[in-house]
Amino acid sequence: MKQEKARLYQAPRGTADILPEEQAHWRYIEQEAVSICRLYGYERIDTPAFEDTRLFSRSIGEETDIVSKEMYTFSDRGGNQITLRPEGTAPVCRAYLEHGLKNRPKPVRLYYLAPIFRYERPQSGRYRQHHQFGYEAIGDGDPALDAEVIDMAWRFFRSLGLERLSLQLNSIGCKKCRPGYLIALKAYYTGHIKNLCPDCDRRLVRNPLRLLDCKRPNCLKIAASAPKSSEYLCPACQEHFSQLKRYLAQLELPFVLNHFLVRGLDYYTRTVFEIQPEAEGAQSTLGGGGRYDDLIAELGGPPTPAVGFAAGVERIVVNLKRQDIAIPPLAGPRVFIAYIGDEARDEAARLAAGLRQDGIGVIQAVGSKSLKAQLRQANSLKSRYAVIIGEQEVNTGTVVLRDMASSEQKILAVKSLAEELQARLCN
Ligand code: AMP
Repeated sequence: MKQEKARLYQAPRGTADILPEEQAHWRYIEQEAVSICRLYGYERIDTPAFEDTRLFSRSIGEETDIVSKEMYTFSDRGGNQITLRPEGTAPVCRAYLEHGLKNRPKPVRLYYLAPIFRYERPQSGRYRQHHQFGYEAIGDGDPALDAEVIDMAWRFFRSLGLERLSLQLNSIGCKKCRPGYLIALKAYYTGHIKNLCPDCDRRLVRNPLRLLDCKRPNCLKIAASAPKSSEYLCPACQEHFSQLKRYLAQLELPFVLNHFLVRGLDYYTRTVFEIQPEAEGAQSTLGGGGRYDDLIAELGGPPTPAVGFAAGVERIVVNLKRQDIAIPPLAGPRVFIAYIGDEARDEAARLAAGLRQDGIGVIQAVGSKSLKAQLRQANSLKSRYAVIIGEQEVNTGTVVLRDMASSEQKILAVKSLAEELQARLCN
């Protein structure tokens, strides 16, 4: 009974609390994300955490892992079929159509930071709620735009200080040339049907492209000699891919061609790419994206080519820690106000209000702890200064200013405290 009670109040399996001590990493990543978007001209968009289920089942693909087994789908009290956002691109495209963003100069460049929900088997770096930084460039098929999106992803990770990354690239063709490739792929895998895993048996019938993505040792061996999508591209896709490679070379991006790279969502066309930590590879991909030229039309809009990228924030945090990258600490209030006695308590409250009005962040003691205990608290909050008020200070209109590092103390007139703190905190 006791155990059951405790379990009831744990975060749900596959989710995590982001505690205050983790926040410096999160803010650091968010700030770099925002500043890279500013640098490349992407504007923020926020969409709801849930959408009509059909938006996702139609766009991501019924046979994908996400739609077939990972979506958090439920009927709300009004009987609407709702799904918690399992990826960020489809909602952005929905908003693009709904609000007539197509009337803006194209490409329309948008970014988001949002929680993503997938009912996956939780393991290291894999959660049921994770967070993505993603961006989309909608309305142009130019391979220069693919290069921009890839370049931006690469610079983003580099600006965070991450090293030893690998940029994997492939082209999976368009709706004209992909069917020919899928026929070749199916024929090849049918010849190996005896050695396929049960999941791949199913993929062979329903979603052959995903055969290349299977991580089981036997299937990996079979994939090694499978036909390559890049060898089945139509002339237009071939031209697009070679232009893209030329742009990437121009940008000095060290891409690696990866014929197995197909990504987990059905809407991709032509370009697909991923950025992975060199040591771990595909299991712990930091981010990925690609072109999705048919998605907006599938959602009922006009034919609109587009390309995008998304990165997982939790995985970035893990890699920042693994690579020992120094993160700027978050600055909290650096002044602590301590008091002794009831009269001083009122004065402390007045003082705190006045200092905050002057723009100085303060933490005010509460309760009736001893001065020693209050100073211990100031220390553990990493306050640089403590302002101490007792009966004598109240009577004389003064305060004691204590430097927490050196323990040096100085008596000051209340009216000069703000100025003194401002001067000291600037250093
Ligand atoms: P995707 O939307 O599948 O292309 O994923 C984009 C990025 O989000 C991946 O490269 C990962 O960094 C991250 N990601 C995807 N799924 C998860 C998950 N279940 N838990 C944590 N991060 C994830």
